[in-house]
Amino acid sequence: MKATQLYAPTLREFPAEAELLSHKLMLRAGFIRKSASGMYTYLPLAWRTMKKIMQIIREEMDSAGGQELMMPITQPAEIWKESGRWAVYGDEMMRLKDRHGREFALGPTHEEMITTLIRDEVKSYKQLPLMLYQMQNKYRDEIRPRFGLMRSREFVMKDLYSFDKDIDGMNISYQKMYDAYDKIFSRCGLIFRPVEADNGAIGGGHSHEFTVLAPSGESSIAYCEKCNFAASDEKAELKVIKAEVEDLLPLKKVETPDCHTIELVKNFLNVPIEKTIKAVAFQDDDGRLILAFVRGDHEVNEIKVLNAVEGANHLHMAEESAISAVGGCAGFMSPIGLKDGAVVLVDSTVMEMYNAVAGANEVDKHFINVTPRRDFKSDKIIVTDLRMVQEGDPCPHCGEKLKMTRGIEVGQVFTLGNKYSKALNATFLDENGKEQYFEMGCYGIGVGRTMAAAIEQNNDKDGIIWYPAIAPFEVVVVPVNAKENSQLEYAEKIYSELKNSGVDVLLDDRFERAGVKFKDCDLIGFPIRITVSPKTLESNSVEIKIRKTGEIENIQRGEIVEVIKDKISALKKLR
Ligand code: ATP
Ligand code: MG
Repeated sequence: MKATQLYAPTLREFPAEAELLSHKLMLRAGFIRKSASGMYTYLPLAWRTMKKIMQIIREEMDSAGGQELMMPITQPAEIWKESGRWAVYGDEMMRLKDRHGREFALGPTHEEMITTLIRDEVKSYKQLPLMLYQMQNKYRDEIRPRFGLMRSREFVMKDLYSFDKDIDGMNISYQKMYDAYDKIFSRCGLIFRPVEADNGAIGGGHSHEFTVLAPSGESSIAYCEKCNFAASDEKAELKVIKAEVEDLLPLKKVETPDCHTIELVKNFLNVPIEKTIKAVAFQDDDGRLILAFVRGDHEVNEIKVLNAVEGANHLHMAEESAISAVGGCAGFMSPIGLKDGAVVLVDSTVMEMYNAVAGANEVDKHFINVTPRRDFKSDKIIVTDLRMVQEGDPCPHCGEKLKMTRGIEVGQVFTLGNKYSKALNATFLDENGKEQYFEMGCYGIGVGRTMAAAIEQNNDKDGIIWYPAIAPFEVVVVPVNAKENSQLEYAEKIYSELKNSGVDVLLDDRFERAGVKFKDCDLIGFPIRITVSPKTLESNSVEIKIRKTGEIENIQRGEIVEVIKDKISALKKLR
């Protein structure tokens, strides 16, 4: 491709509207343009990169046994009503009506679509396992579309669905996808971790999020440097922290005027925060009061709260009236002396405390010398892991202190069990002629988000630094003055040779000043630049510059193809 024919409108300045660096760079380097909030045109450079990412995905999906198909984006409401998700999906689902008033959704995901397809066609265990995937636009009317392609409302996703005859089969499919994801993100040159994730309401299953490490990421993850453990902060299962054993002192109620926060209580009573117990009060959609107690220096993890309470869907902050109905008092709560009617959850670490401070369920009063094992009524409470992971918590696998980092979720793998096959009554006949529900899994990758994550991880003050496997072009050939025929012809020959030997190369044949062209090369981020100048012409050579390292060297004319191919392979090893 020649730069004079390429549509890559670069901007002189960073656009003010963008916050995240990858978003700014994609706008400035001529990769994307916005059409509406969360909706983007992928210009040729971005589309080249996305096609390369999609090709890597396709190769790995196929070699893991996947088969590509294409389902309609527009999905009839009936199948979503059948699974029960038409109501649950809420405002995130983009809905429309046809001319007859029939309702449709623009697919945010395709479990309903694929399950109803398979339900009507696959009748025997002999047709299993099946792995089917597609790459297409997905639609989610996100509350806060932002950061360009990271969280958009229309985005390209690869989604694969697996169908197996039993749980063992499903777990094998899951492992195949997990391994394929590992290869895909490695081949894209990313530094990432598969992170144990929450799989929501689907009990007993597994889920991992593939998370690209970047300080700007929206997910917070805990990881261990000693073993391989990594988990999202929502999921990380935590060990009980044991306090030092103390003699039990008698429970006593004390005055704590206006001390309705842990900070105020601890200062007023002059005790360390680790000796206090705090409460968070929620209500679920049915109005059920749920009280969660954790150590004063810990935070309540709402996902763990939801998982601990059967049938709870969403959590809201509790109303004062609900709290007082069970004899509680906001700001001064504890499980001691509460009436029945609330679900009382206590973090396992709280049960290890001695002589602590907790609310007395009366205004301006706390208990001191609370020892939960003695003072909480064990038949009225549920003891479980409730808290959010923090830096320095012991690793649940090896005990080493955990570190925290941020990351970008680029893909997720899930076992679904028979959640959808049951809801949509999708069955097959097993070896004994008995009807069984399919055991399913689903596996997504955001293609645009992967491209954006790659930029977040690889850039400098001058622009993007592409990893060769996903660069829009691997190499750019720049004659410093394209108006000079000798330079242009020399550059064209090199360009053709590289192209014929399979290198993805751009010829910058624009009549721009050399400085402008070099700036654009750095901004767009081609891994290797080959420069042709009067000086290199004289010595029958070229200058090459490696974008990532800044290294510059001269290469003799006859060696160019071989050297460039070696450099590309070497760069692919540098992650
Ligand atoms: P998130 O938690 O970031 O909203 P999700 O868990 O809802 O994402 P999945 O349903 O697991 O997303 O979708 C699979 C993949 O699709 C994600 O890992 C991500 O790469 C991509 N993706 C999801 N939502 C968006 C979006 N709004 N914009 C761009 N990519 C997205
Ligand atoms: Mg996800």
